[in-house]
Amino acid sequence: MRIAFLGLGHMGLPMARNLATAGHEIVGFDVFQGAMDAAAQGGLAVAESGPAAVTTARADIVITMFQSGAQVLDAYRGADGAQGLLAVAAPGTLFIDSSTISVDDARAAHALAEAAGHRSLDAPVSGGVVGAENATLAFMVGGSDDDFETARPVLEAMGRRIVHCGGAGLGQAAKVCNNMILAVSQIAVAEAFVLGERLGLSHQALFDVASNASGQCWALTTNCPVPGPVPSSPANRDYQPGFAGALMNKDLGLAEHAIMSTGVDAQMGMLARRIYQEYADGSGAGQDFSGIINTIREFSD
Ligand code: NAD
Repeated sequence: MRIAFLGLGHMGLPMARNLATAGHEIVGFDVFQGAMDAAAQGGLAVAESGPAAVTTARADIVITMFQSGAQVLDAYRGADGAQGLLAVAAPGTLFIDSSTISVDDARAAHALAEAAGHRSLDAPVSGGVVGAENATLAFMVGGSDDDFETARPVLEAMGRRIVHCGGAGLGQAAKVCNNMILAVSQIAVAEAFVLGERLGLSHQALFDVASNASGQCWALTTNCPVPGPVPSSPANRDYQPGFAGALMNKDLGLAEHAIMSTGVDAQMGMLARRIYQEYADGSGAGQDFSGIINTIREFSD
């Protein structure tokens, strides 16, 4: 496939490299010169703008990996007098947005692409930078069956688990729901360990019981918030991420947007949003989100 890959940041650059390794023809672009330099040094062909990457590649597929929904929508339709990606792409080009953005923005991006005569998928990922580098990302995909089947081999070059979640926006919906579960369960596990400490229960004893009982969950058995029971968890390396508090806070902001727009009575999700907002505003932005246990300890009498 001929692919324009836009957004060569922490995730995008290794993803683009894996596509090139798999034999796809890639032309990349990033608005940040440092990212362009890193891409060029890594042997990736780059163009002087997003639209130029699309036309130079004669792209069958355009992949975007940006920070926000506003960036995706601006790039699709053009902003500040600049030409948009949709306007320069050949009719029927498949647009795949892998940024983590709101369901509403994803649906707006789908509508713009369709109105311009193109195909589109939302395909956010989980697995972090390590998953991007090792081509082991999980992709959650929203869009039509046909577009999903076209994209599948391309996504498989960057990931290990590719799930078609339904129509437009439902990849983002799956991601936001999963991460809300994760946030709430990580806080619950951290509170349980601090409560256990106060009651005189050892970390290992609580782990041995809960990991084999109904308290079992990823936040406990993989991302255990205390050092010891799971040697690979961030707690054993001073809470270096992992998954940083800032990113969890961003994803919970998207969950909050979805909760407000649907009117769901998601009290735990909203509370998790507030807790991680404070965590990310303080010391937690660059720490793993399991470090929330230190905040809980600090605020316990
Ligand atoms: P990043 O900030 O490192 O990369 C985003 C890149 O997009 C930046 O280099 C920026 O300059 C570029 N960009 C913005 N607008 C552009 C435009 N119009 N044209 C070209 N380039 C443009 O972010 P990241 O960590 O790579 O994350 C990318 C997305 O993936 C985010 O939505 C994030 O929430 C999501 N995500 C990140 C992780 C992670 O661990 N980093 C994990 C899962 C999902």
